[in-house]
Amino acid sequence: MIQWPRAVYLHVPFCLHHCGYCDFTLVARRDHLIPQWFDCLQRELEQHRRESGARLPVDSIFIGGGTPTHLSVLQLQQLAELIAGHFELQPGGEYSMEANPDGLEAEKLRVLHEAGVNRLSLGVQSFDDDVLQLLERTHRADAAAEVVCEAASILPAVSLDLMFGVPGQSEASWQRTLERAVSLPVVHVSTYGLTWEQGTPFFRRQRSGELQRVEEELERSQYLQAIQQLTGAGFEHYEVSNFARPGWQCRHNLVYWRAEEYLAFGPGAARYVGGVRSTSCRSVVKWLRSWSEGRACVEEEERCEPEQRAREAIMLGLRLRRGFDVAEFESRFGVTLQQLAGAALDQGLRRGQLELADGQLRLTETGLLLADSVTAEFL
Ligand code: SF4
Repeated sequence: MIQWPRAVYLHVPFCLHHCGYCDFTLVARRDHLIPQWFDCLQRELEQHRRESGARLPVDSIFIGGGTPTHLSVLQLQQLAELIAGHFELQPGGEYSMEANPDGLEAEKLRVLHEAGVNRLSLGVQSFDDDVLQLLERTHRADAAAEVVCEAASILPAVSLDLMFGVPGQSEASWQRTLERAVSLPVVHVSTYGLTWEQGTPFFRRQRSGELQRVEEELERSQYLQAIQQLTGAGFEHYEVSNFARPGWQCRHNLVYWRAEEYLAFGPGAARYVGGVRSTSCRSVVKWLRSWSEGRACVEEEERCEPEQRAREAIMLGLRLRRGFDVAEFESRFGVTLQQLAGAALDQGLRRGQLELADGQLRLTETGLLLADSVTAEFL
């Protein structure tokens, strides 16, 4: 019998505008598809309900996108009812929604609060209007700061997404963004370097020389600047890219980093259930067409073998600054770290990129700056 995961992700694929660097699953200016998306989402949830046979108890719900708050007040209510009909958030559970500052009026925030949403993740990216303009974001810095304050007055927790490594973004500009972020009533901050995804307008503009990638050294220094500024302001650096005030780590994302299982619904959504990873069609139109005909739309599906699961657990666990408990790992996967990945482990320790302390394996400060390559050695 399947032990159903206790974390759920739902994907809302609508945005006001398609930012040139973004390759998430979404459509912009196609709001006429929203009613059909609701119908299809309901079908997908009902199919799951038939499989599970019950309204499942869960500890976290995460509604991401796209821009979930692009939905109207009525549509947000409809979404909340749909979710509540299928999942029962347990007392003390985390209910997160991603949002953008644009169009996030108080009424929407109140609807979210009434629905039980207790954590808002705001895609602010920068408090520098020039950087926002380059990123093709539709909001401006002062308006975003006002929205942060309003959201924090209605919801218990507000998190900010901030971006560095943006062409033309100086260290001084990044510093001002970090300073403004910590001056606001937020309990969590995620910082990401701009990525240049193939197929995006930004990727083409970079290829043609219209946009210049930021030097690696500047990007590294901006990352260190974020660590210094945010930890100095009392945030705990708990994951490579994430910072939280004590007690406000993102519980839903911890499920991913602990390599636990999760459910997911909507176009492009990736799930991990019963040892099987699968991803729904990334094309919103294809996903809609398929579910309108009552057929699931899955693009990739693979059963993870125990060894692969163990290797992924190392890679993900190392993203946490406290690392992971080696004894717990070995009993969970029935294999020792040495047997599984002795070479990668020894190399990381020898190069000073990994450390073993108090039974935890984690990245050192040196390893942190090379997190992707050090962790990839374990795959
Ligand atoms: S608002 Fe966010 S999800 Fe939508 S296109 Fe821009 S970056 Fe992507």
